[in-house]
Amino acid sequence: NSEIEDILVVKGLTKRFGGVTAVDGLDMTIKRGTVHSLIGPNGAGKSTTVNMITGIDKPSEGSITFNGKEITGDKFFNLTKKGLSRTYQHVRLFNNLSVVENVAIGGRLFYSYSIIDSIFRTRKMKKEERKSFHEAMEYLKIINLNDKANYDPESLSAGQQKLLELARALYMKPDLLVLDEPCAGLSETETMEFAKIIHKIRNAGISILMIEHHMDLVMEISDYITVIDYGKKIAEGDPASVNTNPVVKTAYLGE
Ligand code: ADP
Ligand code: MG
Repeated sequence: NSEIEDILVVKGLTKRFGGVTAVDGLDMTIKRGTVHSLIGPNGAGKSTTVNMITGIDKPSEGSITFNGKEITGDKFFNLTKKGLSRTYQHVRLFNNLSVVENVAIGGRLFYSYSIIDSIFRTRKMKKEERKSFHEAMEYLKIINLNDKANYDPESLSAGQQKLLELARALYMKPDLLVLDEPCAGLSETETMEFAKIIHKIRNAGISILMIEHHMDLVMEISDYITVIDYGKKIAEGDPASVNTNPVVKTAYLGE
């Protein structure tokens, strides 16, 4: 797979909700090993776009190719197995599980629905669990939450909860990591920390598709940016060209 230069190719992607066309004929290509940001004003269709890419929403039209294979209409669970994982605009954590469990077991409950297995745990499973806990701790170190491993997720700050979701997504060992507003609710210090984490993730060879409103951060960490408005692409290019594009400025003025 790694010889395919484009990790994700989206063509004519369209989503209609009744009379509303949330995404309208979007073309977008993500190069392997890059941080690609999808930006645009509120309601532009960003979340709907990544929901289609990650198998949450079914496209009305268009195609999605991941790692050289068409995945249009594939469900989230299958895509996770194929190397695509994500975080959400609004955090989704298991508050009855500890921080480290949310990375390890949380991931398992979420992705393979083995709730019965988790209740009637076998010895082999317990051994596997120790291994996954060890691995989960490694991801907690990346987000600097290893000292909070046994805490309840509800006791974490909003920013820490978002980072915890990121650790869980990384635990799935994705080729492409999709992040919907990862810095919403993060303090300025946490946002700077997040930028460093993103660099680490990219250096580990993981490609990233990110929706984000923090423009300084987007300009700093993106290799490439796609701008959408009213579901349509209005600009794309490197941060410098997007930053100075008058069409982009006009789109944001209306906000
Ligand atoms: P963004 O993430 O860029 O803020 P969204 O993708 O969430 O935008 O929404 C794009 C448009 O689609 C908005 O007009 C929104 O109201 C509409 N929309 C999103 N999800 C749904 C849904 N499940 N049902 C109906 N309309 C939706
Ligand atoms: Mg959104």
